[in-house]
Amino acid sequence: MQSRDRVLRESAFHSMYKSYRQYKNTLASCFAANLKQAVFYAETRKYPSSRAMYLHGNEIPEEVYDNLIETVHRFLPLMHRYCRLRKEALGVSELHMYDAYVPLTEMPEEAISFERAKEMVLEGLAPLGGEYLALLKEGFDSRWIDIYENEGKRSGAYSWGTYGSHPYVLLNYNGTLDHVFTLAHEMGHSLHSWYSNHSQPYTYAGYRIFVAEVASTCNEALLIRHLLKKAESREEKLYLLNHFMESFRGTLFRQTMFAEFEDIVHRKAQAREALTAEALCGIYRKLNEEYFGPDMVIDEDIDYEWERIPHFYTPFYVYQYATGFRRPSPFRAGF
Ligand SMILES: [Zn+2]
Repeated sequence: MQSRDRVLRESAFHSMYKSYRQYKNTLASCFAANLKQAVFYAETRKYPSSRAMYLHGNEIPEEVYDNLIETVHRFLPLMHRYCRLRKEALGVSELHMYDAYVPLTEMPEEAISFERAKEMVLEGLAPLGGEYLALLKEGFDSRWIDIYENEGKRSGAYSWGTYGSHPYVLLNYNGTLDHVFTLAHEMGHSLHSWYSNHSQPYTYAGYRIFVAEVASTCNEALLIRHLLKKAESREEKLYLLNHFMESFRGTLFRQTMFAEFEDIVHRKAQAREALTAEALCGIYRKLNEEYFGPDMVIDEDIDYEWERIPHFYTPFYVYQYATGFRRPSPFRAGF
């Protein structure tokens, strides 16, 4: 989906969704059953809704959820402007869903060594102070991180640890800028855990996802600020800005759209409405139209995207990606 080759992007998009289309009824009944289960438990436990039940677990008031959706709606014109910009920058007469992920500028070809990535992160996180940097260095130098892809190793990246051990980080580092941000992100989780474990007794050291992503995305924000400040060419700056805008689209707008979708389908489940594949696709389509705005052609295939989001089986989880996302102040007026 990130290839500069548009035909490749289009075929990849259509061939993947062709499979999802074939299983739409199976996946709709799986999902509908999951929704019914959530409603059943909520009603049995005398909660007003499944959303109230799931948010109560983390003691998050439901107003937070509504406020997120409302606020993102208020700023949708910015998302629409981003689509217009994307259309112009890619020079296409119609912007399609398969044009959503390609970077707007050429990617730098040279791979960033892991040694260099560590230096970049250390430089970027300098505002956090000497103590933080010393801990970061300790993590880098004391084998907290399993760096590269390996046989049998799971994909993605995460930070984990137990009370009484230092944090452990799993990466599948591939030398791209994206993965330098992943390193900053995961070390944010690691140091959050380290500080929590060293300041709190065992009972209170654990933290909720709602606050966890603040530590990690804050690090990403500091890193982008630093890289933008020292970018030498226009191309480099554009590439970084593209990365930054994409994180707004992917974390703030996309996850809030998912959150709104969940909110709608859980309400419908509670109202005993039938949630068929057609109904789910219709709801999903309407949201895509609202979020992407008039400059995006909402290809029919994207109506099936809800089928492939595993998080929907962990109800009312994804909104926390959006609430944990913070933007650095110098760009507040920018976009
Ligand atoms: Zn994270």
